[in-house]
Amino acid sequence: MNFVYQGNNQRVVFAAGARSRAGEELDLLGVSRAMIITTPPQADSAASFARLIGDRASIVYPGAQMYTPTNVTEGALTAVSSVKADGILVIGGGTAIGLSKAIAFRTDLPQLVIPTTFAGSEMTRILEEVERGIKKTQRSPKVLPETVIYDPELVAGLPLRVVGPSAMTAMAHAIDALCAVDANPISSLLAEEAIRALRRALPRLLAGPNEAAWADALYGACLAGTCLGTVAMGIHHKICHALGGAFDLSHADVHCILLPYTAAFNRNTASKAVQRVARALEGDDVPSALYDMMLEVETQPSLKALGLTRAALERAADLAMKNPCGSSSQVTREEILQILFAAYEGKRP
Ligand code: NAD
Repeated sequence: MNFVYQGNNQRVVFAAGARSRAGEELDLLGVSRAMIITTPPQADSAASFARLIGDRASIVYPGAQMYTPTNVTEGALTAVSSVKADGILVIGGGTAIGLSKAIAFRTDLPQLVIPTTFAGSEMTRILEEVERGIKKTQRSPKVLPETVIYDPELVAGLPLRVVGPSAMTAMAHAIDALCAVDANPISSLLAEEAIRALRRALPRLLAGPNEAAWADALYGACLAGTCLGTVAMGIHHKICHALGGAFDLSHADVHCILLPYTAAFNRNTASKAVQRVARALEGDDVPSALYDMMLEVETQPSLKALGLTRAALERAADLAMKNPCGSSSQVTREEILQILFAAYEGKRP
């Protein structure tokens, strides 16, 4: 056996109701003037966290935007210095966490993250930003949040239209990690367990409020983010990043729609890893099983339905070929286009 695994140095608190510990966790981090970051739709939730942590709150900043545009970060940095914030409390999904990471990258401020989606960004040292329509990805220990509080009760507010695609995003992270060129026994163990937890969660997530399903999905998202953050990203992320950054599409929808088709590609190039996915999904035909899940959760189940044009796919293929995060260096533009066209048509892979 021969492998490299870079673990995370993080504190993770996981419990229903654990959000009430936010103040104590900030104290442990030595934060006394927290900037509370979120997205505009979660401004009320951020305000209630400000009340919860009392004097430790310096400003509520509900200005995060999907894909972390650098001009938004510049505005947030001005706010950081004007209130002399000494730490960040994030409440939200990958968008809010992205802004927090971009600030931490530039200031090294400590971060307490309370995730409310299954994107898993809180568990990675990956910073994704968009500058003039191009998504840039870099890794730095500075962006890894020091503390994460998972509280399944917070998933209750997540719109149903977002719940399923978000859980499928976590599934995509785990599958990409299993298929990575540098996958190792530890990351693969985490990935397989993540897929199992997400498979258990998915049907129950859609059937109505279910705290056990929210907990399974958050647990799966935590593991999926952890393993994804330790390996090179594969073909799935190479394509999703190109699409998401350039066409301003929902991150979760793009991952969800592409997943059956990238899994079909991986079945040929990483067949052993896809066998492990099959074991965790308890089904033989992985692309087909993922396609069924995608149809169940997506209201717009193809790139065509998302509003993309065929010409846009050509541009996305060009961008994906330039994307340095992809580990599958042998992938050709033609293969990427085939995946994109299949996801555009939305037929069973
Ligand atoms: P998101 O954070 O944009 O959330 C989706 C929508 O749901 C938003 O409108 C948000 O305000 C709302 N929302 C979230 N939680 C809610 C709740 N509990 N109640 C009510 N509304 C809620 O979407 P996302 O899919 O979580 O994150 C996407 C972003 O994360 C992208 O920018 C992507 O690039 C980034 N990302 C980064 C990494 C990484 O490792 N760096 C990993 C995954 C995703």
